[in-house]
Amino acid sequence: MALLSLNNLSVRYRGASLALDGVSFEVPENAIVALLGPNGAGKTTALRAISGLLSHHGGGEVGGSIEYDGRPLTGRTATRVRAGIAQVMEGRRVFPDLSVEENLLCGGFTRPRTGLGSGLDEVYALFPDLVGRRQDMAGLLSGGQQQMVAVGRALMSDPRLLLLDEPSLGLAPMVIQQIAGALNQINERGASVLLVEQNATLALALSSSACILETGRVAITGASRDLKDDPKVREAYLGQG
Ligand code: ATP
Repeated sequence: MALLSLNNLSVRYRGASLALDGVSFEVPENAIVALLGPNGAGKTTALRAISGLLSHHGGGEVGGSIEYDGRPLTGRTATRVRAGIAQVMEGRRVFPDLSVEENLLCGGFTRPRTGLGSGLDEVYALFPDLVGRRQDMAGLLSGGQQQMVAVGRALMSDPRLLLLDEPSLGLAPMVIQQIAGALNQINERGASVLLVEQNATLALALSSSACILETGRVAITGASRDLKDDPKVREAYLGQG
């Protein structure tokens, strides 16, 4: 059974055209799925619909349905975090004036207090670069370290489904490899990951399956290893004719 399935999902922002138009795809249990496509294709909108953030962004009409863990997904964002869905938003959005550790603790609001220590330990084990910076204000960290804080903050809720919006954006190749390694470890521990990326090469290497959106519709879906070799995908998304 899929952990998450989008069934014919449509979203229209207030006063705007359809951002998603009949989108269906699945995220299996314990899988990494890539959601790809050009700017404006609707990737962020899909993540917002799953995390419950649409209403914060003028999300108007929603059609179709989303199922999570065998049930219709409804409720506010905090309810969905409690159900195991955590989102890392584009642009990292750490709280710059809070320390690294305070940022991480903000992500643990659904955990019992007794679980916070082990949550922090897990994040520091995953991102050792953060250990020496735990008392520093997050705004003073490098972009890569801020991304680690953003991912770590999401992990503090112990998610079953981690949603990531462009985690590699603007980062140096070495840092991207660190983040990619962390995503693999998160997945090996049992969580599913839905990864929105402009870097299709990276996303297809990390994921087992992928869905490519174009102007709000699903253009291509399939196993990532097949899509890597698909001439159309290579030309349009991997910059390789
Ligand atoms: P990008 O990579 O540029 O973030 P994306 O694939 O994530 O692109 P979305 O951000 O989901 O695409 O945008 C899909 C469509 O919805 C676009 O036409 C965009 O202009 C529109 N859109 C996004 N957010 C809003 C909003 N808050 N209000 C109105 N329209 C919006």
